[in-house]
Parts: sequence; C-alpha cells; structure tokens
Amino acid sequence: MKLYSTNNPESRVSFKEAVFNSMPQDKGLYMPESIPRLSDTFLNNLDGYSLPEIAYHVANNLIGDDIPADDLKAIIYDAINFYAPIVKLEDKVYVLELFHGPSLAFKDFGARFMSRIMSYFLKAGEKQLDVLVATSGDTGGAVALGFLGVPNTRVTILYPKGKVSDIQELQLTTNGQNIRALEIDGTFDDCQALVKQAFTDAELNEKYRLTSANSINIARLIPQTFYYFNAYAQALKQGKSKVVFSVPSGNFGNLGAGLLAWKMGLPVERFIAATNANDTVPQYLKTGVYEPKPSVATLSNAMDVGNPSNWVRIADLFKDDADKLKTLIKGYSYTDEETSTAIQSIYDSYKYVACPHTAIAWRALKDYQQDANNEATGIFLSTAHPCKFPDVYEGEVAAHVEVPEQVKALQSRGKQAVALGKDFEGFKGYLLKNA
Ligand SMILES: *Cc1c(COP(=O)(O)O)cnc(C)c1O
Repeated sequence: MKLYSTNNPESRVSFKEAVFNSMPQDKGLYMPESIPRLSDTFLNNLDGYSLPEIAYHVANNLIGDDIPADDLKAIIYDAINFYAPIVKLEDKVYVLELFHGPSLAFKDFGARFMSRIMSYFLKAGEKQLDVLVATSGDTGGAVALGFLGVPNTRVTILYPKGKVSDIQELQLTTNGQNIRALEIDGTFDDCQALVKQAFTDAELNEKYRLTSANSINIARLIPQTFYYFNAYAQALKQGKSKVVFSVPSGNFGNLGAGLLAWKMGLPVERFIAATNANDTVPQYLKTGVYEPKPSVATLSNAMDVGNPSNWVRIADLFKDDADKLKTLIKGYSYTDEETSTAIQSIYDSYKYVACPHTAIAWRALKDYQQDANNEATGIFLSTAHPCKFPDVYEGEVAAHVEVPEQVKALQSRGKQAVALGKDFEGFKGYLLKNA
C-alpha cells in the first residue's frame, strides 16, 4: 500500500511511514494511492462472513503486501475481538452499536488496530514507542485501553483535572502496566499545548521515540471501514439490501471511513452527516461554502469540532466529482435542546437509552426518512455507551442507564494519576525523570 499527501498528490510513502508519521510534513493527510473495489462475490455474500473475517478481507485488499497475510490475520483477530451488532428498533430503523469494546466507544476499533500495527512495525531491538495523547475524554480511554499490554509501547495520557466524567477518568487512571495518566491542572487545550510542545522539544525527542495517537492516523481510519461492511452484512441477513447510514460526526473520521467502504464497493444509498451546533459540514452541503469556525461546547461534546480535520480526506475522495458528494451525503444539525428531546423520544418510543451523540444520529435519520420518503433501511451509528455521559440524563431515562460489568470492575480499582500543573517545564521534568 502506497499513500500520498492530500497536499501533494505526487508524493508517496509506505504504510509503515504513514502510520509512524501520522501526518505528512506538508500538513496534508495521507490517502491510499489506490482504493481497490472488492469483488462482487465477496460483496454479494457478505452475510456469510463474521466481523473478523470481513475485517481481514477488507484490510488485506487495502494494505496488500505491507503485512504478510498470516500476520495481518493475527493482528485483526486480536484487535477486533468484540461485536458490533445492529439492533432493530422499528421496521426501517436499526442502531449499529459500536460500544462493545473495552472503552465503550467506537474509537476502540481505531485505537486497538493502530496499536497493534505500530507494535508490529517496531522491529526487534528498536526503541520503545512512546505515545503522548491529550484527551477531553473518549480518545484517551480508547488509546489507553487500546495500547494496554501491547509490547514495546507506552502511553502517557494528559487529561484536564475535573473535566472528564467519572467513568472516563477510571478508564484513564486504573490501567497500570504501560499506561500512565497525568492529571493536568488546566483545560483540554492546555493538555494539547503541552503535548504539541513536547513533540518539538529536542531533549525529549532525544530520550523518547515519540508519536501521537492522533485521530487522523490512517491506521485508525482503516478499521472503521470494517463495521460498515459488517452492518450491511447483518442487514442482508434481515432481508434488507438498501441501506442508509446516519453518522454522528465531529472530526469526520467515522464518516470518512464509511465513504471509503462505499468506494470499495459497499452499496450504500446515502450517508447522513449528523452534527450538533458545530455544523460546518451541514452548512457546506447546504450552501457550498466551507467555512470552519471555532468550536462551541455542547451536550454531545465528542463532536464539538468547528474545523473537522478529516474533511480534507472526504473532499479528496470526491475531488473529481463534487456533485456526487452532495447527492451521496445529506447534512443535518441539532441544538442541545433537540438532542435532549431526541434522547427522551428514543426512550419513549423503544425503551432504549442512547448517548447524546447517538441521539443526534437517530434524529437525523428520522428527519431524512421523512424528507426522502424512500424504501431504504436506516442504520444509525451508536458511537458510545450511554453510561459514559451520566450528566445528560434525567428522570426515568437516568434510572435506566445500565452500567456494564467492565465498568463496575474499574470502580473497585484505585485511581493512579500524577498531578501536574499546566507549565511545560514541570511536564518536561516529569518525562525526563521517568523516561
Ligand atoms: C469521537 C466521537 C464522535 C465523533 O467521531 P468523528 O470520527 O470524530 O466524527 C462521535 N461520538 C463519540 C461518542 C465520539 O467519541
């Protein structure tokens, strides 16, 4: 597999280089040089395959010779070891539950796959890989649990004190082994600034082989295609062959992966880009003007992105056919009030508790189905387990938020975090002392 930078279509790097660089020097994003169309035999018989079988087939076609088949198979079967079921809520409305991994969010797909790919590419005797990651909640948990126990890697997570939910904090701070958590007396932006500065610090780069677990890493995007194929396979089993996907979106990696699956031949009728008040993309789809804005805080805070970094990938996928992009993707955006109402409506209609991000995807699907009035079956993506956002629920809904066993197990473990200020010298001092 060769990749180019969206800022320089003539450039080429190997898969390994793209994974370790995360981002090209020219600040574009890596894209596969060619996107293979999967065979009709495979696509027409998807319902005969399991999620890891599908994942292996898709990854092998994309990545090709860079990883021998048996090694790739081992990586996939180790990384994708949980289910992603579609659950029927009504005749043409299904929810794709992507929260059955260790951190209870869809980011587990990307983080688990990326960690194993990175570890694989580190040759014997190479310097340990140190992942530095700033988190406002979900990313850190997925990365921590994704890298937990992965050989030759270590993760240092910076999170803002008092600004993540209790469950998120437990996921960050109870791991031990190769994971360490730094509780920063500051905001998420402060955490991110510390990480950024560390990457440019000569002394730290001498001691450490640093990498970011950035969401724009191509090794996080590829595994997110797997569940689109698998969801379609499950729809086929239910006799549904026309589907639309509604994707709750922030940085647009998830939707980007869906479009990649579509490019590989997955017959999706339409994608719905569902956002909160951070509506840069729905606005673009409506007006044709792409105008990034500063983010605003909402209830669905994992989607509070005003300038979605993966959008350049989507634009690049459709660079020869901008009209297709506008017919294939429909945009919808919602306020916090509409989000709360949607959570309540989902509960009232199906006795189902959805996280705020998921609720936005459901609302968008329902509105789309009303507008489009077509035959397709709608599948909306549930990106996180509701228990991760306990503060948004009220009354009867709050009483019905289930807490999975794996979370209860965390509650009995002690929090281990090193408290630091937001100054760079203190952070650097800690890293140098604990290299
Ligand atoms: C990260 C995240 C999103 C947004 O996904 P993108 O790929 O950034 O668009 C949506 N919901 C949850 C729960 C998330 O953690």
